[in-house]
Amino acid sequence: MHWARWGDPTEASALSAATLGLVGAAFGPAEPCGTTQLADVRVPVPRVQEPLLSELRDLLGDEHVLTDHAARVRHTRGKSTTDLLKMRAGDGCDAPDAVVAPADHDQVSAVLEWCSRQRVALVPFGGGTSVVDGLTARREDYAGVLALDLCRLNSLVHVDVVSGTATLEAGLLGPEAEALLSRHGLTLGHFPSRSSTPASAGSPPPAPAAKPQQATAGSTTSWSR
Ligand SMILES: Cc1cc2nc3c(=O)[nH]c(=O)nc-3n(C[C@H](O)[C@H](O)[C@H](O)COP(=O)(O)OP(=O)(O)OC[C@H]3O[C@@H](n4cnc5c(N)ncnc54)[C@H](O)[C@@H]3O)c2cc1C
Repeated sequence: MHWARWGDPTEASALSAATLGLVGAAFGPAEPCGTTQLADVRVPVPRVQEPLLSELRDLLGDEHVLTDHAARVRHTRGKSTTDLLKMRAGDGCDAPDAVVAPADHDQVSAVLEWCSRQRVALVPFGGGTSVVDGLTARREDYAGVLALDLCRLNSLVHVDVVSGTATLEAGLLGPEAEALLSRHGLTLGHFPSRSSTPASAGSPPPAPAAKPQQATAGSTTSWSR
């Protein structure tokens, strides 16, 4: 997903003349607006610095502790309208100090213990599509903020075709989960949004996300535990 928009930029198409006409009729003529580049987003000076970062690298491996500008921006807030407007204004004040990506349960536990010891806030990050400020860390009383990217927890752990149940790791995104389940003739059935929105298995929507296929698959709140 684009860092400051909904959807996949590779699938974007120009608005038709009819749509532009409707927008114009409602709001006045549509004009192109300036686009902030990811590199121009302002992020705070990170508070989690060396030698603490080295300790995290010892736990997870060098390549799974990210401190670069792009990683911090991509893990800032979610996809609500206010989140997107802030990002488009170049406001990255809620950026985490670093992004950590554990590979399994033991590494998640190790990071949690480390954060608890260091009094560093840890924010789980699945698909980053939250629209209720869930990814914006509370910073008071903390020595820093890390984003816990769940992208490496992406396995289908168990599947029972007879009962139609499956255990998915928390970081599996909708399309990835669909691909794995389809090998067993199963589907989440959450179309079209769930498959095109990269929300993760570990963060099912709090509101019943009813889609056209709900009649056969049930709503998200009925099939997720
Ligand atoms: C186009 C679009 C359509 C949407 N449609 C709906 C809808 O129909 N119904 C609805 O309810 N919501 C909807 N949403 C909101 C959002 O997609 C859902 O809330 C979704 O479940 C968030 O999943 P995520 O993996 O992106 O979570 P994230 O945004 O990464 O995280 C959301 C919150 O959950 C926490 N979290 C994430 N993973 C875990 C985990 N494994 N363990 C503990 N905490 C975790 C995060 O720290 C954060 O607080 C929509 C959003 C978009 C952009």
